[in-house]
Amino acid sequence: MTTSPRPEVLRAPLIVEFPFTRSLGPVQSAFLTGLRHCVPLGVRTSAGQVLVPPVEYDPDTAEELRDLVEVAPTGTVTTWAWNHAPRRGQPLDTPFAWVLVRLDGADTALLHALDVPGPDAVRTGLRVRIRWAAEREGAITDIACFEPADDTEPAAGEAAPHDGQFADMVTGIVAPARLDYTYGPGGAQSRYINALADRRTVGERCPSCHKVYVPPRGACPTCGVATTDQVEVGPAGTVTTYCIVNVKAKNLDIELPYVYAHIALDGADLALHGRIAGIPYDEVRMGLRVEPVWTEGGRYPDHYRPTGEPDADYDTYKELI
Ligand SMILES: [Zn+2]
Repeated sequence: MTTSPRPEVLRAPLIVEFPFTRSLGPVQSAFLTGLRHCVPLGVRTSAGQVLVPPVEYDPDTAEELRDLVEVAPTGTVTTWAWNHAPRRGQPLDTPFAWVLVRLDGADTALLHALDVPGPDAVRTGLRVRIRWAAEREGAITDIACFEPADDTEPAAGEAAPHDGQFADMVTGIVAPARLDYTYGPGGAQSRYINALADRRTVGERCPSCHKVYVPPRGACPTCGVATTDQVEVGPAGTVTTYCIVNVKAKNLDIELPYVYAHIALDGADLALHGRIAGIPYDEVRMGLRVEPVWTEGGRYPDHYRPTGEPDADYDTYKELI
């Protein structure tokens, strides 16, 4: 018995990021605007508890909460965890403690970063104070971090009522969302991607129902068995269905309108999608025969163009729509 060397399974960094815009409502608006003015605000429940950070509804009774109060910029660490390797976008770029801090006057704790030289300098019960950011814009990052305070006792006094009004209310924020990870496509897609580097399209056949999947996922979703046989398909194919795109996508320099289509490559039992060009957009039709067009250095076809063959008969692709 001979064994062939295991094909290389690809891995690559993959970053998905987008801005998430949200409106704040009266309570969060007051809280974030307060931070811009170095005024930490909480909200009082009907039971007399002060919640910091404030919420709009009582977590116990679901009652609407609007009674804002000002609390102190000093507080006590209620629990903590050491972050030895800060990541991009975190409050500090040197190792720090994640802490829950109960600000003086509050009954709940706020999650933030504590700037200390090492884990030996943190303990539950440590007195801390807010270090304000030099430039504040109405965001949680207006608290740059917490730092150890000199005092040993919580500040005396009750949280003071506050109307939550400032001259320059923050009414919305843009929160950038970012997923930053290493993607491993698995064996089947690695073979597919490696073949694309040679401008060949390789699908995989199900040993049970004999369907050829392109791109292959490694298993047949109908039969639940691994696909094993590699099958080269295309390069030409048939438009099974399509849409006309009239909305410009960010970072995509394609003249509007254009056509995006499902294309069943010859020999494939699943349609993939691609852009159709080389034909007026209003002449694209189901059954149109197309072939891939590669650009120099491209890792996949830039678009598909008509081959000039007669249209495919509907019966040949009706199962692939
Ligand atoms: Zn199958």
